[in-house]
Amino acid sequence: MDYWNNIDFKAVELLVKNYTNDNCAVELSKIFNINKDIKVTLTFDHLNNIPMIGNNVPLLEIYLSPSWAKKNIEICEKIYNEKPRDLPEWIIINKYMPFNSSKQIKGNFELRCNTTFCVDNEKVKVNLIIFVPDIYRDMFKEEKIVVVNEKKIVIKEYIPVNNQIYIILHELIGEFHFLNTIGYLKFVMESDGYKKEGFDDLVNIREKFIKIEKSYFCCKHCKKLSLQADIINGYCSKYCLINYIEK
Ligand SMILES: [Zn+2]
Repeated sequence: MDYWNNIDFKAVELLVKNYTNDNCAVELSKIFNINKDIKVTLTFDHLNNIPMIGNNVPLLEIYLSPSWAKKNIEICEKIYNEKPRDLPEWIIINKYMPFNSSKQIKGNFELRCNTTFCVDNEKVKVNLIIFVPDIYRDMFKEEKIVVVNEKKIVIKEYIPVNNQIYIILHELIGEFHFLNTIGYLKFVMESDGYKKEGFDDLVNIREKFIKIEKSYFCCKHCKKLSLQADIINGYCSKYCLINYIEK
């Protein structure tokens, strides 16, 4: 595959082994960010976002991301599936951005949410209805959708004007769920008469997604899910298999 043929792994190895400052991170990022449809995030001496303290071998985790866009999932999966198999064990290739498990929402938003489950193409999905209080009304624009049958029906839809709401959701549930597990996403406004009492705190939605995660495989060591890596014989990578096999 073109993508991997264009990566100079000798240069990667040199940069990681002599890693001294942010400049090395920038150089490494340049090596991997060569496809406009995918965004590559790198972590150093972190395993599934957890710092490896006292680890004296280098560790590079590569996360290939479709940049939040469903249209890029196919190319991202293709590049992931064609990843080289003969790399040193300390280079680990994953898909979708690393997950932020801290549950801290930036900006302290008071958004609330209702969730329902549905099954789509044999996959369980979570539908989200997000309650938007008046103070955040400016973050959305109104779009009218006209449904014509016996009589004309106008449905109001709200579209976020910027990425802010997506960043919050991404922080809470991770990119893989954001793209693959959300069934539909709908916003309702306090200004249309909705009451916040009928909605739960948005921070609690993570738990709904955890229920679904039980149907995926999980690395016995780093707990990465089969959503982000191939879990083979219980482990996500040669690194986890060699270093942490259950004895
Ligand atoms: Zn692992």
